Amino acid sequence: MSEPIDEVPERVMVVAAHPDDEGGCAATIAKWVKAGTQAFFLFTTNGDKGTDDIEITSEELAVIRDGEVRAATAMLGGTETVILPNRDGELFYNYEFRGQIVRYIRKWRPDAVFTHDPTVIFSEFGVNHADHRATGLATVDAVFPFARGPWQYPEHLQEGLQPHRVNTMYFWGAGPNNNVWSDISDSLDLKIEAMSCHTSQFKDPERMGNSSRERAHKLGEEYGVQYAESFRKLTFRRP
Ligand SMILES: [Zn+2]
Repeated sequence: MSEPIDEVPERVMVVAAHPDDEGGCAATIAKWVKAGTQAFFLFTTNGDKGTDDIEITSEELAVIRDGEVRAATAMLGGTETVILPNRDGELFYNYEFRGQIVRYIRKWRPDAVFTHDPTVIFSEFGVNHADHRATGLATVDAVFPFARGPWQYPEHLQEGLQPHRVNTMYFWGAGPNNNVWSDISDSLDLKIEAMSCHTSQFKDPERMGNSSRERAHKLGEEYGVQYAESFRKLTFRRP
């Protein structure tokens, strides 16, 4: 049973593995920004291997993707965008990586966090990328309990960063586990326009736009609106 999302948070943080994965929630973020939400984007890798072109170096690709994602998140109305200095495909869940995410949760203090569903290994697209799984899992744990406890990553206190409690998490790519949906009829065009900034990833932006519209329309039909995005939502109990 899926329900419409019933909140517009003051602050939202998107944690995505690669520059272009923000597409998982871009229309909902754009919609919230229009309603006054501040949006913060954290990319856990620089996406420097995301090409079949062997003429381009990883260093060059990282620079290109940095520019693309900053243009895209600016179009969505993002307040701040950070790309962690991790390389594409080299992400492993460990203490240090989780701490990088905890640090930005404590810095940006979001009410809601969006990320990849870490429980998905096989998806409708084949295999869910290892970086997506590592990012989703580290983000879940960063939100609960690690960003909350002052003795976790205590060096953050020295930087003036206080513990922080996130209220809700949303996961994209959750397939049958989706339990909420968002009416994106007024923000789908902006999402497609923003995603078109990723020219290194979408060689045929028209095709990308059409398939994005088709998917949103199919979901929208289920919920009685023109276009929709859907997510798995997790709500943390108030203390
Ligand atoms: Zn990705």
